[in-house]
Amino acid sequence: MAKDVPIERMRPESLMMSYGYRPELSEGALKCPIFQTSTFVFRSAEEGKAFFEVAYGLRDQAPGEQLGLIYSRLNNPDLEILENRLALWDRADDAAVFESGIAAISTVLLEFLRPGDVLLHSKPLYGGTHHFIHTFLPQIGVEPVGFMPQDDAEAMRARIAGKEDRVALIFVETPANPTNHLIDLEMVARLARELSTRERKVVTACDNTYMGPMWQNPLQFGIDLNVYSATKFIGGHSDVIAGSVAGSADLMRRIKTLRTFLGNMAGPWTGWLLMRSLETLKVRTDQMQATAQRVAEFLQGHPKVKLVRYLGFQEPGSRAEALFRKQCTCAGSMISFEVEGGEAGAFRCLNALKLISLAVSLGGTESLAEHPATMTHVDVPCAEREELGISESLIRLSVGVEAADDLIWDLEQALLAV
Ligand SMILES: *Cc1c(COP(=O)(O)O)cnc(C)c1O
Repeated sequence: MAKDVPIERMRPESLMMSYGYRPELSEGALKCPIFQTSTFVFRSAEEGKAFFEVAYGLRDQAPGEQLGLIYSRLNNPDLEILENRLALWDRADDAAVFESGIAAISTVLLEFLRPGDVLLHSKPLYGGTHHFIHTFLPQIGVEPVGFMPQDDAEAMRARIAGKEDRVALIFVETPANPTNHLIDLEMVARLARELSTRERKVVTACDNTYMGPMWQNPLQFGIDLNVYSATKFIGGHSDVIAGSVAGSADLMRRIKTLRTFLGNMAGPWTGWLLMRSLETLKVRTDQMQATAQRVAEFLQGHPKVKLVRYLGFQEPGSRAEALFRKQCTCAGSMISFEVEGGEAGAFRCLNALKLISLAVSLGGTESLAEHPATMTHVDVPCAEREELGISESLIRLSVGVEAADDLIWDLEQALLAV
């Protein structure tokens, strides 16, 4: 930060170009360079000793003492500055960046779960998360227990009856991908507090990829950790895979320590790309959500469209509507819709799209469409897919920054093929 800017009163978008970076340390370069180096030179052996003492937790940092740069698996300016900026969006003490969203998620799960523990999680979950939880975690003695979006506190408790004292972590995804179901974050945080004892804190984490960090902040509702696939909105240009976690200093210290030893931190180039992306996060996503509103309204009125799952369309007076008003600042840019004709109808529509690309992923500048039942969510057992509303005729659409009229033109001509 060049001058004395009152950071507390600034919005994150005003700080994304400069926060945490000191040009005088980099030959006056306006932008943070890519620190493409594996290691850093100590000025003296004493300095190297002092840096290691802090890095390995042998002593606490002295007031005002900066953790020195040691080695790029432990720290690198492109990661540290990026992490400071990500923490601003979530109003978190700290953030940690990973080489993928799934690396961020698996590191959180591995840090807070031990053999014998129960993991309570919402359904549906992102396919990769679902796979790690149900394929890998049981092999190390962790028992996953899922709950449904419509479950209230009592129903959630019923699912863990007799196992309450083994619950170590509650992991949720809201709005859920691809159905836009909402989970009550305050209810989840309250349950975790009730299940916690003096010796054992039940940690809560929310995959905030669908809405964050612009449109929803789970930390504000008492969740401990916001987890992201930074590949999506944060990266925003479909050209980088990355992940991040944000939360309180004590939990982040644990996550960063495990990251150091799993070695799954992001590299300097990824850090630099994400800093570039954060500068336009606000303008990109403002545009995307406004465009999505128009696209959703078009789909809602179309005779070939049976159902539109969009956060902006909530049944008046419903629990989901109340949750939407409480937790989300807008309806976002993810729309799922069902067309006539089952899988064949959905495929005809997807194959006919011209401007919108047929690809998985979301949150990028270009609009993308895909078929969850056979692509991103093919791993979810068939009966469960049905129960969750991931039907054969469901198409997921991520709205980008194109003109709304042009996207509507494309959808209109593709729906003719249904
Ligand atoms: C994409 C995605 C992930 C996984 O992130 P990667 O960056 O692909 O590893 C996790 N959660 C959600 C909700 C996602 O959309």
